Amino acid sequence: MRGSAMSPADPAMSDAVARLQEWASAFEAALGTGHPDRVAALFAADCYWRDLIAFTWTIRTLEGQEAIRQMVADRAAIVRASHWRVTGAADVAGGIDGWLDFETALARGRAHVRLRQGRCWTLLTAARALKGHEEAEGPTRERGAPRPGQADRRSWLDRRAEEAASIGRTVQPYVLIVGGGQGGLALGARLKRLKVPALIVDTHPLPGDNWRSRYRSLCLHDPVWYDHLPYLPFPAHWPVFTPKDKLADWLEMYARVMELDCWNSTTCRSAAYDAQGGLWTVQVDRDGEPVTLQPRHLVLATGMAGLPQLPSIPGMDGFKGEQHHSSRHEGGAAYAGKRVVVIGSNNSAHDICADLVEHGADVTMLQRSSTLVVKTDTMLRLGWGALYSEEAVAAGIDTDTADLLAASMPYRLMPDVQRPIWARIAEEDAAFYDRLRAAGFLLDFGEDESGMGLKYLRRGSGYYIDVGASELIINGAIKLRSDSGIKAIVPDGVLLEDGSLLAADVIVYATGFGSMTGWAEKLISREVADAVGPCWGLGSGTARDPGPWVGELRNMWTPTAQDGLWFHGGNLAQSRHYSRYLALQLKARFEQLPVTPYRP
Ligand SMILES: Cc1cc2nc3c(=O)[nH]c(=O)nc-3n(C[C@H](O)[C@H](O)[C@H](O)COP(=O)(O)OP(=O)(O)OC[C@H]3O[C@@H](n4cnc5c(N)ncnc54)[C@H](O)[C@@H]3O)c2cc1C
Repeated sequence: MRGSAMSPADPAMSDAVARLQEWASAFEAALGTGHPDRVAALFAADCYWRDLIAFTWTIRTLEGQEAIRQMVADRAAIVRASHWRVTGAADVAGGIDGWLDFETALARGRAHVRLRQGRCWTLLTAARALKGHEEAEGPTRERGAPRPGQADRRSWLDRRAEEAASIGRTVQPYVLIVGGGQGGLALGARLKRLKVPALIVDTHPLPGDNWRSRYRSLCLHDPVWYDHLPYLPFPAHWPVFTPKDKLADWLEMYARVMELDCWNSTTCRSAAYDAQGGLWTVQVDRDGEPVTLQPRHLVLATGMAGLPQLPSIPGMDGFKGEQHHSSRHEGGAAYAGKRVVVIGSNNSAHDICADLVEHGADVTMLQRSSTLVVKTDTMLRLGWGALYSEEAVAAGIDTDTADLLAASMPYRLMPDVQRPIWARIAEEDAAFYDRLRAAGFLLDFGEDESGMGLKYLRRGSGYYIDVGASELIINGAIKLRSDSGIKAIVPDGVLLEDGSLLAADVIVYATGFGSMTGWAEKLISREVADAVGPCWGLGSGTARDPGPWVGELRNMWTPTAQDGLWFHGGNLAQSRHYSRYLALQLKARFEQLPVTPYRP
């Protein structure tokens, strides 16, 4: 399907390619004539155009012909999109799906189109590189060894050491990234390759410590094909589900070989923006030394699972035993023989409970609301399989193509696409779900039965990918209470609304994490956080994702209401894919290219 560079005159060109090229030529002509109505008419009545910074210099989905018409009216003359060339197309049920390359005045891009009855149902346009500012790679890679007679005879080591020593000291970073987890590192790597001076600061002593510091039993719940970092994919022997300390070592290595400028043991204390000068003043504490940094752009890559969210339950202060949030839970080893109540029923709660059982603790999970559970193997087969699996790789779907295909489905359509998949999962694993229900576990498949991906996008929580803990609930090794709310924490444990007492020596609050906007409030100000508004969530109007509908993840990877402030994060796949568009937006500004986000 990716196809090669077939020209319309090629006799071997398939019918699907020819028909898509016909549409693309009409599209290009309509864009060029300054007639937005003609562009809109090439779309179906029910249509979606998702743009990743190619036309809008933000991330936006235009829904319907009128929204498309308006954007084209505003943008076509500036963007000057041209050279739409089909690189692959195939007949699918109801139409044609295919790929195109295109150019704009500033960028080279890739597009994905779904045609139905000759008109466009969904279009994805993604800027992939800035013209004249492409990353050096392949034939344009650096030579490394000095050329005979070259004036600068410094070794790589000397040059690298000087570069690392100067940033933040004699050279101000253009971009300061707060947070050196996989998010900060992936973005740092892209900026390095784009030659944008960037500094990453992180409180932890070493890159990778964001994973090292989590509970011992943690392995990634997503499979390896989904988790690669930019530029350096995991090797082919890498396990399907990466243990967290192994991932930590990979990140540490990544920071080094990608030559990232990281200040570890460095905490960002505050940041203030000077609108006149267009500069941030950021106070950091570098291993006890106060340092002031003045970047033009500040990226908060502080983690969407970074600000622990503790519930407020009467009596918490009076508990006699030990209590902590899941982010502070190191593992079950210290709790053999102890009575532990774990409040919560999502991924962390399950992992922690299973590990505690393994270490001989007496564990009760307290489920407060229903949870989506899916068996890993089923998820591998029916969830990730089409795009992120050994089979997908064998079918020629590389990570980049998979990412673009995933991005090509507008969020509005996702529930309808996902529902049948989750209905099938429910049917295939019906016996498993029956046993889980019989154990008292409250199950759901999302408010509208649309499954895990949507729960993640809407609220970032509410599910467990089963790597074994469900069986422990079914067989009673993990005790479960789901039939009564919590009335209070009392000195000896947790008092439930039905009057029963769950006696406990330890309480673990696996109660999730707050919005990334909280970081803006903490590090910048309440005013800026309020102006920016919430991060994450689509505005679906479902639980914990209040409307209005936005159609994209709010404030992620896009310009925000605060000049020079950006948010970056998410799972490994999002971090990998969207760091590209964030890096290109920052590079465009670094090169002072005329980029103005489309704000209708
Ligand atoms: C238990 C758990 C399991 C997960 N499993 C998966 C999985 O299987 N697959 C997947 O893709 N995702 C998973 N995730 C989600 C996501 O990938 C992780 O949360 C990941 O760590 C996010 O990376 P990040 O770089 O965006 O943020 P983080 O890893 O949270 O890193 C943020 C960094 O910011 C630093 N920081 C914060 N404040 C400051 C400050 N003021 N100054 C300096 N530094 C600061 C922190 O020290 C930290 O290192 C999981 C999350 C959790 C909590």
